Amino acid sequence: MAVDPVAPYDSENIFAKILRGEIPANTVYEDDHALAFHDINPQADVHILVIPRGAYVSWDDFSANASADEIAGFVRAVGHVARDKGLVVRGYRLLSNIGRNGGQEVPHLHVHLFGGGPLGPMLA
Ligand code: 5GP
Repeated sequence: MAVDPVAPYDSENIFAKILRGEIPANTVYEDDHALAFHDINPQADVHILVIPRGAYVSWDDFSANASADEIAGFVRAVGHVARDKGLVVRGYRLLSNIGRNGGQEVPHLHVHLFGGGPLGPMLA
């Protein structure tokens, strides 16, 4: 079901469960601000999801309500994962779906990181 971007945060969403260690994930990076793991249904050779540790429904919620420290830490983490996975030289794509029209399915902010080969016009 598509996410209502103005609904309150649901602490039982699947990424909240991954953050709490209740559901396994193929983790590639973690720090105080972010967790990164492989998407369960990859849409590219490399398809990683990066999520903040804080309880934010979407990019809209995060950009409005997260602290400067959380925002900086999350942005740094996304860039770190891309570099660490060797995606920078040939290029990659970042995408975050927001709400119903954006096609967001999981109500915890996530950035899709696609790479590993030429990408089509649209993914996720
Ligand atoms: P959205 O449509 O919300 O932007 O993307 C949600 C993404 O989460 C989808 O690409 C989907 O494959 C991925 N996903 C959903 N459930 C799980 C899960 O339990 N584990 C992992 N690793 N990815 C998931």
